[in-house]
Amino acid sequence: MGLPDEKLVDACNVPVGLRCAICTEVFVDPVCGVECQHVFCSACMGRATAAQSRCPLCRVAIDQTQLRRSHPIQSLVDDLKVMCDYKISGCGWTGRLQDCAAHQAACPVPENANLIAQLKRANARSDELARETERLAKKLRLANAHSDELAKESERLAKKLRLANARVHQLAAEKLELAEEVSIKTKLLGSVSRSGGQHVQVFVRDPSDKVHVLILNIDEDISAAQLCISSHTGWDLKSFYLTGFGQILHPGRTGREYGIRRDATLCMNARLLHAAF
Ligand SMILES: [Zn+2]
Ligand SMILES: [Zn+2]
Ligand SMILES: [Zn+2]
Repeated sequence: MGLPDEKLVDACNVPVGLRCAICTEVFVDPVCGVECQHVFCSACMGRATAAQSRCPLCRVAIDQTQLRRSHPIQSLVDDLKVMCDYKISGCGWTGRLQDCAAHQAACPVPENANLIAQLKRANARSDELARETERLAKKLRLANAHSDELAKESERLAKKLRLANARVHQLAAEKLELAEEVSIKTKLLGSVSRSGGQHVQVFVRDPSDKVHVLILNIDEDISAAQLCISSHTGWDLKSFYLTGFGQILHPGRTGREYGIRRDATLCMNARLLHAAF
């Protein structure tokens, strides 16, 4: 293999005699055999004579052990004007081939090129980190928003729970109240069913002039009559009282105690305790 044309400052005007007949490039380590003067690159000659030890041009036998360097050709090649290998990286040096190796050993361009490449890599890495940072910041914003939403939801649920608990307590209280009322009414009904058969028909006029007819056991507590009125009208037991015979009929006493006799037909009034009722 020879010297590539790209390395030469003026490849077009290189004398034909400085080019190898095998690779067509300028000689590198030009050598020739003993029997003829045909010159080739050392590597090209080595490959060409590996199979058959003859000159590739004139076919004369060549003894590979007796190849010799072509010093006149080498010195002409050494004088050719070439460019630095780092031209592509920006080196503008040109000079004789024989000085090129020394220049390239000290050429500042590769160092710079290396630094530039490092800088580019660092910039790329920095850009990548900036993008990564932005991605993470976005993720964080989303996570925060989600967390806020969850906190709000949690607060809503806690409020609902408090309301539900309050309702449970209220219902428990109502249940107690109802149980108490049921117990009272059960007792009253018990006393009604236990008492004898001394019944009278009673007409009770309420404040709206409506008349309620009920059968009263005269041995029964007045509250039984009140209970009956209450179930007719829906009034609360404690919201009204009964009058008859010109007096208030108090619960805890029986009709007989108020002088009601068997088979009588009586008129009573139901009066509200509260005007607003
Ligand atoms: Zn060659
Ligand atoms: Zn030859
Ligand atoms: Zn250079």
